[in-house]
Amino acid sequence: MELFDLHCDTLGECLKAGKSLFQNDMQLDVRRGLFLSPWVQCFAVWIPDEMRGSEALQFFDRAVQLLDQESVSHPELHRIFSGNDLDALKPGECGVLLTVESGAVLAGSLEQLQHLYQCGVRMMTLTWNGSNELGGGVRSSSSLTPFGVKVVREMERLHMAIDLSHASERLFYSVVEHTEGPLVASHSNSRSICPHLRNLTDEQFCLIRDRGGVVGLNFAPPFLCQKGGACAEDIYRHAEHFLELDGEKTLAIGSDFDGTSLPEDIYGIASMESVYEIFLRHGCSEALIHRIFFKNAYDFFHSL
Ligand SMILES: [Zn+2]
Repeated sequence: MELFDLHCDTLGECLKAGKSLFQNDMQLDVRRGLFLSPWVQCFAVWIPDEMRGSEALQFFDRAVQLLDQESVSHPELHRIFSGNDLDALKPGECGVLLTVESGAVLAGSLEQLQHLYQCGVRMMTLTWNGSNELGGGVRSSSSLTPFGVKVVREMERLHMAIDLSHASERLFYSVVEHTEGPLVASHSNSRSICPHLRNLTDEQFCLIRDRGGVVGLNFAPPFLCQKGGACAEDIYRHAEHFLELDGEKTLAIGSDFDGTSLPEDIYGIASMESVYEIFLRHGCSEALIHRIFFKNAYDFFHSL
């Protein structure tokens, strides 16, 4: 089967724990994912809210260093910088797309965005849950700061995807107001199905849809099911709702592996086949499943 996953935290977790991206005991490693073909995995560098300034800059650089080392040791890692790199992806390879979670990584400097781009970053969430130099995450209520406005404009100019997962509602709408291009929510579900602040309202989903963006289904139990006891089937309930909102060209996967606990019947990257089978069992056409698990995200980054 194929997969284009818009979000995992594996790279940062490997860095913190001194583990290998290729082979580890976490939810995702490249070795266990190589049954996926083609496979493109977004690897996020998560900057926690309390990590600021030079500490954030250094953490990002160390993560890139680790990724570079792993790419040299393991030719199965195929770095993605452009649409041509996506086209060149071969079976038995993991297409590695570098992303960032929280604009705190910029330490308030617009020039830093250029550095990120050169390192291969093609998508960035503006915030994590709290506030930073750019604006407010879901635990705050602030919109884009003047610096945040400059950042989103520069991201559009550089063709770096603006990721609104973790954004507060005010931030979300202020980004809509200050941008024209596609927007992404790399790992967020539906608030109509599970009323969690990290999930998208129908209106937010439709705005992303109308801008030609993508939304990745998140496997984190609190975002899947309010009652508790989340299972893989809940992922389909969110997908079904987004599909009712004409989301067949918007919907994608944003697993959040190694950034969250998982439903009781999902163990990590090796469980992707059983998630895929749930969609088949519900009668989704292979063409639709192809869109959700791969093509929508592929097309998005190819035309970025
Ligand atoms: Zn996240």
